[in-house]
Amino acid sequence: MKLVFVGVSGAGKGTQAKEICSIYNIAHISTGDILRSHIQNKTELGLQVKEIMDSGKLVSDEIVIKLVQMRINEDDCKNGFILDGFPRTLSQAKMLDNITDLDKVVYIKANDEDIVKRLSGRLICEKCGSMYHKIYSKPKVNNICDNCGDSLIQRQDDKEETVRERLRIFHEMTAPVIDFYRNKKLLAEVNGIGDIKEITNSIVKALEE
Ligand code: AMP
Repeated sequence: MKLVFVGVSGAGKGTQAKEICSIYNIAHISTGDILRSHIQNKTELGLQVKEIMDSGKLVSDEIVIKLVQMRINEDDCKNGFILDGFPRTLSQAKMLDNITDLDKVVYIKANDEDIVKRLSGRLICEKCGSMYHKIYSKPKVNNICDNCGDSLIQRQDDKEETVRERLRIFHEMTAPVIDFYRNKKLLAEVNGIGDIKEITNSIVKALEE
């Protein structure tokens, strides 16, 4: 099964993508995670994209397209994959159209103010990627990851001002991607606010329709 998950950052795409990948035994490809690991490892690409990502702007189509093209040809993608956070522009969507077919595009919806509340309280473990929230999902020990014991940080791009910039970019650049897939009759729309398990169930239902 080849899927795309689209939605603003903070709508729960990553969480839901992980759940759905384990149900269907397919690979989870998050372009944001790939880029962050380049930054963490201080690769040439990481140094090139750090400032752009910190400001909440989009990395160039050329860079992300190359990353995705290489990634979907890896062995663990043979059974299928979820692209989480890609495509984000119409040209990325058109390019993807040239290299692979998709079974479904899941649009996880959330309103802007809910996103600001969620993201500005979000904490992340840089080592293992686990997510927490200052109010809704606190770690057992303040600022320490329950999973690996490393310290938690707030992503630079989760600062409120940057979150608002990411929302603006989503409405400007990614809305056409949603229309593109709606016209192709590939789009399934799911409400991203609510109980995580219920949202997973509604995604599964949409995928099996
Ligand atoms: P995410 O973790 O999906 O919110 O992505 C974090 C940041 O990575 C974004 O704000 C962009 O700077 C960059 N990024 C991730 N995916 C893409 C993409 N498909 N196109 C351009 N930039 C991306």
